[in-house]
Amino acid sequence: MVMGKAAVFVEPYHFEFTELPPVPVEPGGIRVKVTSGGICGSDLHFWRGEIKPIVSGRPGPVILGHEMAGLVAALGKGISTDSLGRPLKEGDRVVFAYFFPCMRCYNCLRGELNHCPTRFRFRASIEEFPYCNGGFSEYYYLFPGHFVFRVPDDLPDEAVAAANCAASQAVYSLRQAGMQMGDSVVIQGAGGLGIHAAAAAKEMGAGRVIVIDGMANRLALAKQCGADHTISLKEYPTPESRIQRVRELTEGRGGDVVVEMVGYAQAVAEGLDMVRRGGVYVEVGNIFPKSMLNIDVSKVLWNHTRIVPATHYDPYILPVTLDFLSRTKDRYPITKVMSHSFPLERIGEAFQQAEWAGKDQETPITRAFVKP
Ligand SMILES: [Zn+2]
Ligand SMILES: [Zn+2]
Repeated sequence: MVMGKAAVFVEPYHFEFTELPPVPVEPGGIRVKVTSGGICGSDLHFWRGEIKPIVSGRPGPVILGHEMAGLVAALGKGISTDSLGRPLKEGDRVVFAYFFPCMRCYNCLRGELNHCPTRFRFRASIEEFPYCNGGFSEYYYLFPGHFVFRVPDDLPDEAVAAANCAASQAVYSLRQAGMQMGDSVVIQGAGGLGIHAAAAAKEMGAGRVIVIDGMANRLALAKQCGADHTISLKEYPTPESRIQRVRELTEGRGGDVVVEMVGYAQAVAEGLDMVRRGGVYVEVGNIFPKSMLNIDVSKVLWNHTRIVPATHYDPYILPVTLDFLSRTKDRYPITKVMSHSFPLERIGEAFQQAEWAGKDQETPITRAFVKP
């Protein structure tokens, strides 16, 4: 029997390698051979033990990783096309929504597929079906009813690796904001999300894109990927100075859209003061519980700030994102976001690299990925 390699997350800072039974394929399902699994900021939170992964079904060790792409390894009965009706066969490169809306709940009924309460059923104990299943394993299983899309031939694996999470999340966030042509867009944080958001905002017609971060190398990449202005935490060390700088760059008004992609609650207090009167604040980064904040709510009211949350994405954002990456691949060096590649056996090193990258000024990296 063919087995699937997996790096199992057993406790903070620790993976164990194992071989698991290959994922069986039901009618309507697809077994994917994972070709790249990116390390998302949320994976780092799990790794450090700051949050526990949500495990569906019986508790037990799980495989992390949701930012991935792969090849069709086996098509279930009845599946011959992708979600856009294009022919699909074994060996085709695909990206897919890694979460699975049930289509049988109040949120799904209202089209809020990324808010289905049971969408996390992919992350089950390795002792339960579908066993070898995660971004950091050899296989991933698309349950019947999945959303899957063929990858354009002209996109390299490095670009596709981040399509499913960072890139789609960035595109979705701006769409949720209702961003319009000519808008000033301020992005807090130049990690994988922020760099993709800079390019996406430019592509969507932003008049000005301003990116804020503490690391020179990330800001330089943001500039190459569509940012008109960058604000360095080194040069502007206080929230007040950064808010002032945003106002200077936006004719005194503040951003039409400000997007939080840092992941610290304090960034929200600062970011809210960067929004123009009547503008939009998009919250993306603060994914873990107890991200507490003291703010003057009356300011939100009197500034008429619209606060918009964005977690996951609508599955239709995936083909939109693939198209965006394909059209702009010669304009923005966005694949540099995925700067380091490790074999699965060196996943510990990959996580350390991703962690270190958030602190080191010299390393030209924002995200690492592993290849099973
Ligand atoms: Zn992610
Ligand atoms: Zn549902």
